[in-house]
Amino acid sequence: MTLSTPQNTPSTTSLTLAKRAFRTNGAPYSPVFDDIYHSVEGAFEQAEHVFIHGNDLPARWIHSSSTGPFIILETGFGLGVNFLATWAAWRQTSNRRNTRLHIVSIEKHPFTRDDLRELLLHIAPSSLRPLIHELCQQWPVLTPGLHRLEFDAGQVVLTLCLGDIHALLPQLQFQAHAIYLDGFSPDKNPEMWTAKVCNGIACLAAKQATLATYTVAGAVRKSLIQAGFEVYKALGFKKKRSMLMGHFAPKWKIRRSNPIKSSSYGQSHKRHALVIGAGLAGCSISHVLTQRGWEVSLLEQHGRAAQHASGISLGLFHPVITLDASLLARASRAGFLLALQHFKKLCTVQTECPLYKATGLLKIAKNEEEASLLYTQCHQLAFPEDFAVPVTQQEASLLAGSAVPYGGWYFPQGGWACPAALCHAQLSQAGPALKTYFGQQVAQLTWNTDEWHAVDVAGRIIAHAPIVILANAQNASSLLALLGTHIPPTQTIRGQLTTLRFPASHTLHLPLIGDGHIAQLPHSTHTELLIGASYDRDNLNRQPDLQSHQGNLARFTKLLPNFGDPLIHGAIDLKTDLNPDTLLHEQVAFRCASRDRLPLLGAIFQEKAWQPTEAGAHLNDLPRFPGLYGAWAYGSRGLIWASLGAEYLAAQLEGEPLPIERSILAALDPARFFLRQFRHSSSIQSASK
Ligand code: SAM
Repeated sequence: MTLSTPQNTPSTTSLTLAKRAFRTNGAPYSPVFDDIYHSVEGAFEQAEHVFIHGNDLPARWIHSSSTGPFIILETGFGLGVNFLATWAAWRQTSNRRNTRLHIVSIEKHPFTRDDLRELLLHIAPSSLRPLIHELCQQWPVLTPGLHRLEFDAGQVVLTLCLGDIHALLPQLQFQAHAIYLDGFSPDKNPEMWTAKVCNGIACLAAKQATLATYTVAGAVRKSLIQAGFEVYKALGFKKKRSMLMGHFAPKWKIRRSNPIKSSSYGQSHKRHALVIGAGLAGCSISHVLTQRGWEVSLLEQHGRAAQHASGISLGLFHPVITLDASLLARASRAGFLLALQHFKKLCTVQTECPLYKATGLLKIAKNEEEASLLYTQCHQLAFPEDFAVPVTQQEASLLAGSAVPYGGWYFPQGGWACPAALCHAQLSQAGPALKTYFGQQVAQLTWNTDEWHAVDVAGRIIAHAPIVILANAQNASSLLALLGTHIPPTQTIRGQLTTLRFPASHTLHLPLIGDGHIAQLPHSTHTELLIGASYDRDNLNRQPDLQSHQGNLARFTKLLPNFGDPLIHGAIDLKTDLNPDTLLHEQVAFRCASRDRLPLLGAIFQEKAWQPTEAGAHLNDLPRFPGLYGAWAYGSRGLIWASLGAEYLAAQLEGEPLPIERSILAALDPARFFLRQFRHSSSIQSASK
């Protein structure tokens, strides 16, 4: 079926892709910049001479004083020649000390997967074909922002940053050990070599970081020197007389705005974390940390994992879209793409994965007005077709397999997942590095010299470690209260789900969201539809109630008016009184949501250590408890926040490049509510002076 496609209007949500073009001598080139991607005398040989040897690799991996990650920053991913050559060199260096290679590469005009594959196969030696194949297999949905691609079981990680270098550099967070400057020649593309870019690169350079580039242009040398690099000419590649090498040695003290990180967590630096709460948030963190070689103690008050909101039979995953590319939209896009990768990784062994299915998902407008708004939005936002496309009412009905009232958005990679099954799969993959403490309620956290103690109601220590991650939804508040710090405001929102059975001849092809959601439960002989969910504030009733069922049935009839009558002890007349006994199944769960509906994610603010200053306050200035982090208030979107939370916290604890833009992370910081409150009261005070 051909769906209506958005026009390619430039916006913050879309990228202008690179065009496949060749010079008469066969060299791939860019018509936009009127420059070739690589030396005609050999792309891979140039990569090796200029960038790999220019940064003294692989010798530095072998003689590294640390076993931590080695981080390379590249300006201009292009065809990924430097990336592939570096990855191949890494593979060939068996006696390296660094355990992980991170390459963070910035690209404004990425190629499509097919063009990339074709161009690379055209220029690369055949020995690199398996690497090209893997790169193309993982090539992401081409949306602006950061995309994490993992190779060789996570030993080689590519963070592809799609967008303009000027906008992206301030959004990145890491300290690079080596820098590849490769943004076309400075006279063809001066934007890539400005003083501002060089300063942005300096902000991401570790002490003594090295750099290499083929250009020796005077203006570039000057900007690099002014940014704190010492540079020197070296022998260039083939016909080029010289190239530039250098290292970061500023003569002034660098003031970095560090990631918002907990203060130093004692002397031990043991890679051991206590994770409190075994729902999707805690299980994802436990999984990601143990995969990186951490020891994890998972503490849960119930006898097993996934007993609260993560215990629902099925959840849906999809990004949120807003016309203004809001932080919620950008964060949800990042979370959605990370979640897809995580789900795929969890299912690598099975062909038919019972944990999730990217069936595609439809967002149906609530009324005519919203339908036309969504349609217009889609044209303006111009997302790639494998991410989101607008659909008319007829197209949506065809996709759903039953008439829907309006058109809306189609997310081809959205779908359903079983949160509880995901939790169990993650815990079982965590292996022996995970120790579970089920049926143990943490009543208090205490800090002792360089470790946290998780203490039960009787005052007994359940477990101890230098790092604690609160992933226990509503219960995080009481632990924070005992620590005497500000408690980010959260709300408990009751959700009731209703399952109805239909004859097997009725099927819903993919999940729908609109006012509520409907999804067909997998693996049942009849057609069973899960309908939800009520959104009940100030209602702590654990029992299913009639009113919520009626609300769900109203959602069902509105979204799928012609689907047919349910089959339970005979057909139910949806318009008459409903007897809850006749329902197939029902579930009640409680969402924990923050006031702005974004998750609470990051290091915990230590209010007592804070001294307000005249200069005001910023998230970076707020002191944090040593080693104490939170990942909670995932609301109705646990499936997309859980992977984002886990990847972010693990990257921060490991000193890896952060996988998400800094502006998004600031919007998720648990201290944001304190800061807003503080600024609000300061402005009232100064107004009354
Ligand atoms: N390093 C690449 C490789 O190994 O294949 C070759 C890079 S190519 C010479 C330069 C790249 O910089 C192009 O892909 C181009 O799209 C990208 N670029 C140019 N201007 C940019 C900008 N302002 N922001 C980000 N990327 C840019």
